[in-house]
Amino acid sequence: MSEFSLIKRYFTRATPGAVLGVGDDAALVRVGSGMELAVSTDMLVSGTHFFADTDPYMLGHKALAVNISDMAAMGAKPRWATLALSLPAEDDAWLERFSAGFFSLADEYQVELIGGDTTHGPLNLSVTILGEVPQGKALRRDGAQLDDEIWVSGKLGDAALALAHMQGRLVLDDASFAATAVALHCPVPRVALGIALRGIASSAIDLSDGLLADLGHILERSAVSGEIQFAALPVSLHLRPYLLQALGRQCALAGGDDYELCFTAPVARHADVGKLAAQLDLPLSCIGKIAAGSGCIVRAADGSVMKLERAGYDHFA
Ligand code: ADP
Ligand code: MG
Repeated sequence: MSEFSLIKRYFTRATPGAVLGVGDDAALVRVGSGMELAVSTDMLVSGTHFFADTDPYMLGHKALAVNISDMAAMGAKPRWATLALSLPAEDDAWLERFSAGFFSLADEYQVELIGGDTTHGPLNLSVTILGEVPQGKALRRDGAQLDDEIWVSGKLGDAALALAHMQGRLVLDDASFAATAVALHCPVPRVALGIALRGIASSAIDLSDGLLADLGHILERSAVSGEIQFAALPVSLHLRPYLLQALGRQCALAGGDDYELCFTAPVARHADVGKLAAQLDLPLSCIGKIAAGSGCIVRAADGSVMKLERAGYDHFA
């Protein structure tokens, strides 16, 4: 199959929300009046972000999910995406499943694939996502204020727990591995939450590299410090027994691939955030507070400051 028939067969769908989709030198989109365009790129590299034999359906899902998650973190509505693919071979079964996974999530979030690039080379997936957010309403990393509360959505650390099992660093029972592997392979981007937090949250970020690393970006950009209560961290029944071990604590505090939102909000909005949790049927946990200074400390249940080995994933550390 030629490059062009491959693109046509696997990556060309109707794009009613764009002025022009796949097939020209560039796609054309129009943003609504009073809206800003939010743009973000995330790359998944074989051997770094996933094992080469990962189910291609899950890879298609995840490549788009991690990008949609960046729109969620900005409070933007994801609208369009481009996909740059480098493939070691033209493997129809692989492409069939990869594109099915990609488009299943695209359909769920009404994201249209409007372009990309396809080349021969080591397996590498790069998605650029474009979204819309009303002018001045984006959730940024630099807005956290003194005394704001720190919140996270969902549960932390399950993806890292599944990965630790796959790497032989601990052994999960079958049911726990099955449940946590879903978190690792099929993250759920929190778009509805991001949009609902416009006007409530003072800052936000999505958790891709681990809570402490990603919260650290908010603290640095906002020039404040953070204090986390370890006992307040939302963890699943699968992770809870491991919190007695350093590895389990690392999963909760520094595990990557959660794709939950971490955000700050004024204390006065505490009840509003609680209402959102009920409306969205999504747990939102208040895990700490913003203070003056820099850095972040984590307090154990007895009030002592916990010592931590590693804040999160860093490709060049
Ligand atoms: P050009 O040579 O002008 O860069 P290409 O030949 O690379 O164009 O691509 C032809 C068309 O197919 C373009 O509209 C491009 O955006 C689209 N395209 C290429 N690869 C993909 C892909 N993997 N997914 C979606 N669209 C793609
Ligand atoms: Mg061209």
